[in-house]
Amino acid sequence: MVEFDREVEKEKLRVQFEKESKSRESAKIMSTLLLKGATMTMKHCRKCGNPVFRQDEREFCPICKEETNTEKIVQKDVISGGENGLNLEGPRIAIENKIANLTQQIEKEEDIEKIAEYLNVIKKAAETLNAMDELIKK
Ligand SMILES: [Zn+2]
Repeated sequence: MVEFDREVEKEKLRVQFEKESKSRESAKIMSTLLLKGATMTMKHCRKCGNPVFRQDEREFCPICKEETNTEKIVQKDVISGGENGLNLEGPRIAIENKIANLTQQIEKEEDIEKIAEYLNVIKKAAETLNAMDELIKK
């Protein structure tokens, strides 16, 4: 009986470990996408429950690679060129949104490794914002 319980415990641990390594893998894929300029939306994939990402006016699940929404998001007004030729309003907003999204994720997240990954991306995003400010000043 004791032996049996131990096997059950082992199996539980194995399943737990598999789940964790899968979610680590997902986090890696997602943070790579964020660095490539994709946005994490507030929507979730109907299949796997992961956050849906948006890039180049497409929304998709980074895990199933499934496009969830082919509707185009019109954002032309935001990125129209200003009189100075350099208008970073669009990218700025995108990055600020990303930071806000990540902050929300961190609030829900309990996995320290993931939190560290999110913080890393936020740091990079903040650095990019600073670099943009420098560009505008010149
Ligand atoms: Zn999915």
